Amino acid sequence: MDLEKAQRAFKRNRFECSIFKTKEKASEYLNGKIDGCSIGMGDSLTLAEMGLYDKLISHNTVYDIHHLPVDREKAGFKETNDAFLEIARKTLTTDIFLCSVNGASETGVLVNMDGTGNRAAGSLFDHKKVYFVLGRNKMAPSLEEAIWRTRNIAAPKNVLRHKFLCGCSAHGGDKCYDCGAPDRICNALVIYYKKMRNTEMEVVLIDEDLGF
Ligand code: SF4
Repeated sequence: MDLEKAQRAFKRNRFECSIFKTKEKASEYLNGKIDGCSIGMGDSLTLAEMGLYDKLISHNTVYDIHHLPVDREKAGFKETNDAFLEIARKTLTTDIFLCSVNGASETGVLVNMDGTGNRAAGSLFDHKKVYFVLGRNKMAPSLEEAIWRTRNIAAPKNVLRHKFLCGCSAHGGDKCYDCGAPDRICNALVIYYKKMRNTEMEVVLIDEDLGF
């Protein structure tokens, strides 16, 4: 995948865009840029693999739904869900919002699928700055292929990760079956054609495979 070509395309679409060879370099960059802020983090395996929460928490206020004040394994569904919603709401009113995407095209367009809406909402409005952080595995040549990977690769893998019962997980997560399961996570598809008005937005591309 040609990350430099993608960077030029993102800039044409009014996003700031930076490229890093490794997740450690990207993490160092973000930790240096974000200081003394309130930060909301969307549900992102990429950010978790970068260990960003542990770096940022020492000099910022950070709300991350990967760090709920309950033990997900031991707490019941209601307790876990209540804790999730409380943190998710807080992520919407912070200075900075950090998330990844499920797909991105070399033509400079980002794609996200969402089940609850907290990540989609947080990435679109009312933050001073939004960072979209993604590994090279999220990139596809065209928007159509980025949407295809979102639906058939990222979504089934996330369903398996959360142990949800959906059409894709019943088949081992091989592809999307466009299910009607109550657990379905594919409820809204967001396509970021250009940077949103009134919000700074930066795409951080990393030349490694990260997340799904
Ligand atoms: S629509 Fe259903 S089957 Fe398709 S990826 Fe989403 S949860 Fe899985």
